[in-house]
Amino acid sequence: MSYKCVNCGVAATALYKTYGPSVLKLTKCETCKGTVDKYIEYDPVIITIDLILISKEAQRHIIYNTEFKSFWKLLIILALLETYGVWHNDSLFSIAVNNLCDIQNNSTVNTTYLSIPPTYLPEPWSECVSWRQGDKEDADVFIWEKDFYVQFLATAAGNLVFLLNIYAVMTLMRKLGSQKVVCSSQVVRGATLAAAHGALALPQLVWGTNASPHTRLLHYTLVWLYGVGVYSNMLTVLYEGPRLVTIPLLVISNLLKFVTIFHMSPIIRRVLT
Ligand SMILES: [Zn+2]
Repeated sequence: MSYKCVNCGVAATALYKTYGPSVLKLTKCETCKGTVDKYIEYDPVIITIDLILISKEAQRHIIYNTEFKSFWKLLIILALLETYGVWHNDSLFSIAVNNLCDIQNNSTVNTTYLSIPPTYLPEPWSECVSWRQGDKEDADVFIWEKDFYVQFLATAAGNLVFLLNIYAVMTLMRKLGSQKVVCSSQVVRGATLAAAHGALALPQLVWGTNASPHTRLLHYTLVWLYGVGVYSNMLTVLYEGPRLVTIPLLVISNLLKFVTIFHMSPIIRRVLT
C-alpha cells in the first residue's frame, strides 16, 4: 500500500518506524518536512471533527492512509437515508418537485409546498403526473413499501449519474493537465466520505415534523451548500483540481442527479407494475 503525506499529498513509503515493541516514531515528509500522518495517533472522534470541519488533511488520512474497508456500509446507510427523504416527501428534491409540478395535497401543503406565484414557475413537465400520487396516508401499505424500492433505485441511478459525470470530467481534466493517476476505488471511497454530509439532514427528518416549508428549504439548502464545499475539497484532494472547475462541475452534476431521479422514478415504477 502506498501512503501519502496528509499535508502536501506527496507519496510516502511508511507512516511510522518501529524501534522495539513499544517505541514507534512517526515518519517525516521529505517534501514539506511535516509529519506524514499525524492522525494515526489521533482519536477517531478528533478525526471525525476534522472531517466535519472540511480538513483536507483528515480527508487524505482516510482515503490514502487507512483501508476504509467499511465504506460500502456507510454507502448503503447514506443511500437509504437519501431515499427516505425523497420517499417521505422531505428533501430538497421533494421541495423542487412539489413546487415545479404544483403538487398540493395533505402531504405537501404545510411541509414542502412553498406557494410560489405560478407566474414565476415554468410550465409543469409531463412527468409531473406520476409524482402526483395523492396522499400516502390513503395508500395501501404494500404500494407504499414498493414505492420505497422504486425511489431507492431512482436515487441510486441519480447518484451514479452524479459520480460518473464528475469522474468523466475530472479524468478529462487530468488528461489535459497534471497527468495525475487517480484510482477509481479511491474516487468511490472519497465520494462516500463526502456524501456523509447528508447525515446533517437527519435532525430535520427526525424532529422537524412541524417545521414550515421555508424552514425545511433553508435547512436542506444549507446542507446542500455544505455538501458542495465538502465535495469540492474532496476533489481537490483527489485530483488537485482548481475550485474554479470543481464548484461549477458539482452544481451541474447535482442538477443532472435531480433530473435523473425525476425521470427514472416514473420509468422504474412503470417497469415494476
Ligand atoms: Zn508533505
